[in-house]
Amino acid sequence: MPSRVLILDAPSYQDVSGPITRALQELPGDFKGKKVLVKPNILGAHAPEKGVDTHPAIVREVVKQLQAQGAEVWVGDNSGVGGYGANERSAKASGIMEAASGCYRNIAQSGKEIAFKSRFGDKLIVSREVLEADLVISLPKFKTHALTVLTGAVKNTFGYAVGGEKSRLHLRAATFNDFGEAVVDVFQVRPPDLSIMDGVVAMEGYGPNNGTLRKVGKLLVSRDAVALDRVMAEMAGAPVEEIPFLKVAGDRKLGETDLKRIEIEGKLDRIPDFRLPISPAIVSIGQMVNRFLYPFIRIRPQVDAKLCTACGDCKKACPAGAITIDKTARIDKNKCIICYCCNEACTYQAISIKGHVRRLLSFGQEMLNRRL
Ligand code: SF4
Ligand code: SF4
Repeated sequence: MPSRVLILDAPSYQDVSGPITRALQELPGDFKGKKVLVKPNILGAHAPEKGVDTHPAIVREVVKQLQAQGAEVWVGDNSGVGGYGANERSAKASGIMEAASGCYRNIAQSGKEIAFKSRFGDKLIVSREVLEADLVISLPKFKTHALTVLTGAVKNTFGYAVGGEKSRLHLRAATFNDFGEAVVDVFQVRPPDLSIMDGVVAMEGYGPNNGTLRKVGKLLVSRDAVALDRVMAEMAGAPVEEIPFLKVAGDRKLGETDLKRIEIEGKLDRIPDFRLPISPAIVSIGQMVNRFLYPFIRIRPQVDAKLCTACGDCKKACPAGAITIDKTARIDKNKCIICYCCNEACTYQAISIKGHVRRLLSFGQEMLNRRL
């Protein structure tokens, strides 16, 4: 049976009940008595209007419809910033705890060590709910990502890993390609049964935290998370070969990446002038130059002292121990592995990935855009 992706109209968050009813029909059988983990993308403690996390209206409606069909629902994610308290703080700020209507679980509290098939470690601590759920319904966000170009259904499963596990993987898989592979390794722990992507308002540019909101008005739905991300990439105008996790997932035949073989319900249109992060240009240039020069041309995170509140979230998120907090955060460039976890963690937009080499790379970006 070919992989199918639904592209459903969802012009606003005011009423997403129709498309979500249609989305849930993609799963065969009924939900009665099933334990269902609903996994939104809760990157951090961001208000819904920032468009960083999955919008609570989608979580609310999915929970409501699953409960109406007799499911036992759990809602949770391991947010970008490690730590038990961070999960709850992020869920509250994003509106998802309230939207979960009593079904929220702090899934960081139930970590279980499992055997992990990966070049980057043989063990991984994941939330027990991921392993015990009869069904996993992933609710990713349609967004760009500085390190993975796009973040979608496959990348959303990276939040199965509890707290510091994500940081440890970042440290071991520090290059674009290695990190893409690590993302797929985690995805393989438990591919979701269904993914419903929040593309009502997407994020372009410097995602996943500092991008610009872009109204798209769609929910993307599929039982094949890889095919869904392939369709998202097409809409965003991002070449598959420059999205390492999609390439690895395709090579491992974990889902369909050939657009011609994906059955699409709805209209697949490219979003005009959708702005990708700088990463594709970096990858293109990085492939052309000596790989030993590559680390030096990658854009480094920079702290804006005027915006920094010295809250320390970036320090907690940094897998390389490269950040110290004085009056503001300071990054030790000799320790920094350029993973952008600090950029994800900072809710004050005080860490920028727009470095001084941006002008140098803009030519590559321009060439890339012309090629698309
Ligand atoms: S850079 Fe952001 S996360 Fe880090 S200390 Fe400053 S405000 Fe907090
Ligand atoms: S300073 Fe930021 S980009 Fe550098 S290693 Fe730490 S979290 Fe990653």
